[in-house]
Amino acid sequence: MKTSLIGYPRVGSLRELKFASEKYFKNEITIDELHRTGAELRASHWKSQQEHGIDFIPSNDFSFYDNLLDTASLFNIIPERYRALGLPPLETYFAMARGYQGAQGDVKALAMKKWFNTNYHYMVPEIDDSTAIRAAGTKLFDEFLEAKQHQITTKPVLIGAFTLLKLAKYNGGKQAGDFVQETAAAYADVLSRLNELGAEWIQLDEPQLVADLSKEDLLLFTKLYSRILSGKASVKVLLQTYFGDVRDCYRELQALPFDGIGIDFIEGKQSLELVRQLGFAEDKILFAGVVNGKNIWRNNYKNTLALVQELTGHAKQLVLSTSCSLLHVPYSLQRETALSDEKKRYFAFAEEKLREFAELKAILGQADPYSSALYIQNEKLFGDTRFEGNVTVQARTASLTDADFKRLPVFAEREAIQKAKFKLPPLPTTTIGSFPQTADVRANRFSFRKGDISEEQYKQFNFDKIAECIALQEEIGLDVLVHGEYERNDMVEYFGESLDGFIFTKNAWVQSYGTRCVKPPIVWGDISRSKPMTAEYSVYAKSLTGKPVKGMLTGPVTILNWSFPREDISLKDSALQIALAIRDEVLDLEANQIEIIQIDEAALREKLPLRQSDWQSEYLSWAIPAFRLVHSGVKADTQIHTHMCYSQFSDIIRDIDAMDADVITFEASRSDLAIIDAINACGFQTEVGPGVYDIHSPRIPSVEELKQGLRRMLDKINTTKLWVNPDCGLKTRGVSETWESLRHLVQAAKEVRETL
Ligand code: GLN
Ligand code: ZN
Repeated sequence: MKTSLIGYPRVGSLRELKFASEKYFKNEITIDELHRTGAELRASHWKSQQEHGIDFIPSNDFSFYDNLLDTASLFNIIPERYRALGLPPLETYFAMARGYQGAQGDVKALAMKKWFNTNYHYMVPEIDDSTAIRAAGTKLFDEFLEAKQHQITTKPVLIGAFTLLKLAKYNGGKQAGDFVQETAAAYADVLSRLNELGAEWIQLDEPQLVADLSKEDLLLFTKLYSRILSGKASVKVLLQTYFGDVRDCYRELQALPFDGIGIDFIEGKQSLELVRQLGFAEDKILFAGVVNGKNIWRNNYKNTLALVQELTGHAKQLVLSTSCSLLHVPYSLQRETALSDEKKRYFAFAEEKLREFAELKAILGQADPYSSALYIQNEKLFGDTRFEGNVTVQARTASLTDADFKRLPVFAEREAIQKAKFKLPPLPTTTIGSFPQTADVRANRFSFRKGDISEEQYKQFNFDKIAECIALQEEIGLDVLVHGEYERNDMVEYFGESLDGFIFTKNAWVQSYGTRCVKPPIVWGDISRSKPMTAEYSVYAKSLTGKPVKGMLTGPVTILNWSFPREDISLKDSALQIALAIRDEVLDLEANQIEIIQIDEAALREKLPLRQSDWQSEYLSWAIPAFRLVHSGVKADTQIHTHMCYSQFSDIIRDIDAMDADVITFEASRSDLAIIDAINACGFQTEVGPGVYDIHSPRIPSVEELKQGLRRMLDKINTTKLWVNPDCGLKTRGVSETWESLRHLVQAAKEVRETL
């Protein structure tokens, strides 16, 4: 049985590419040095795949920034404003990725979006009416030849024509359909060139195929590929899908003359059923995604063997593959020196997944796979009790009833009670929680972690910061204050570290975009709150002022979405455990007289399933109740806020209202206020604070423009429902711009209030 990898991580096990790129951006190293780092990383990735006997080793999965941007560059999809800079190719590429400000001009970067259901972000290609799509770049070919010099014939990969045209943004009157001919010709050209260079296989990634496909989409897809494949030379084409199943185009895939089809059997819920019912074409190889490319747990060989056995009954030829690129998992457990071997044996990062392929190959090569030592070892691993379960937590989730998910009294009653209690002016002003994390704030945390200062010193610094922050908020006249979140490195890590059941790694970095990497915590066991997490700072802040101070928490869905989840229980069950832990904290804050509590769900929208038909059944049906469980136990006069980072939730607006918070704040300043129309149209009950200015830019909004923004909101939103706030936390902003912007915000609210 042969094995194939869809892609490998590229930042380097010590994030070498990140650091080299950042140095290059600061002119600290030359372009040649940057290229050398790239070449070294590629060589080491190819070598380790070769050592583990991987048969289909990818090339061009490496990227200096993003693979979709690489594909756009390959096909000459470079908007005029970047071309006009007259820079060399890699510089033009970085200008699109990061923007450019210098002697040649001043242009912003391309837009960035989330890559399907991952935390990776891609650059959105822009196609002008005048764009001439043709194979113009050389990276794809160069890297194939480079691997050849290492005696490795790779399988070059690039993003397929359909996904490219679907994800691109069209600047003129032309649409995807208008580019079919030239795009197909350009891909066909690439195939024949790779054929000439000696490539045996080429992989075209089409993750867009796992989303909902309309009739037009299917037509676009078949048009593209019947042209790309017509007259194809001997190079074989693997059409690779991932992140779900291909239920909308399974028949089309079978009918087109692909040599291999890559199907995800991990995330693809209906993949197996499709193969069972519709069979698999005899002339094609099934590249079966059986090793999870997105999570960090060991593969369960028993399940994999059963799956492989069933698939061999349907497909004549089978190749074992990852479910998606390993880009989404960290490099190697070898770097995790602080993790015990006892724990490590349950994990497989990218390198360990290579070993799993080698093992699976060996096991499947045996006459009786089930008697092989490697198989027995793996079976035993899954048979062992991995951790001692928390019976209290399990009993708590098991005994939940409908009443636990319902806050009483109902919203309208609470709203009246809270208005009478807090006596806030109309259009109350507040912020989202964090204040600038200046160098001294980070240095304090760093010194404490290193052990250079005592816990007392560490805390005292934070207390002083809080006092300063409260005094300033009072001075400028905000209505609902916050403590500033100086103690938090990150909105998930901070809570993960204080909860039982999470594991933290030292070097398990995963690329989020460009040079940015994140280190998600791992949900290891049952989650519970072992100690109070936030009350001390909130209580201190409150002691300094007569105004209400919001307590600040991160919600269960966001904590789970930004972690590596367990695979032995459902996401729903993990979410409920986390919800109960955060609920304990909510009740603790309430008991400490914190009367307003904000529970952030920044990432709630992020993990919506790719197909709309799965939204309710697979996600919202537990995510929204998990949030309600967190706050259903508070008194009527405790006000619950939530915050979300996205303005695009018109399509789930009823679900957002069903979270049953008292107030929700969200990003809106960059979105033409479309969300306000949705709110207006659906009779949204929750009070709303659509962000009145964009905190992602250092720009200070004028009082006049803030007033205009508020007036426009008031056209659609009842005065009694509207809050005034920035659109997200202020931690990434500078100090002076923050306070000046907030002064303007308070002033604008005051002036508009007077006209009511
Ligand atoms: N309370 C958090 C903050 O202000 C919210 C962050 C976020 O929405 N990403 O930083
Ligand atoms: Zn936010």
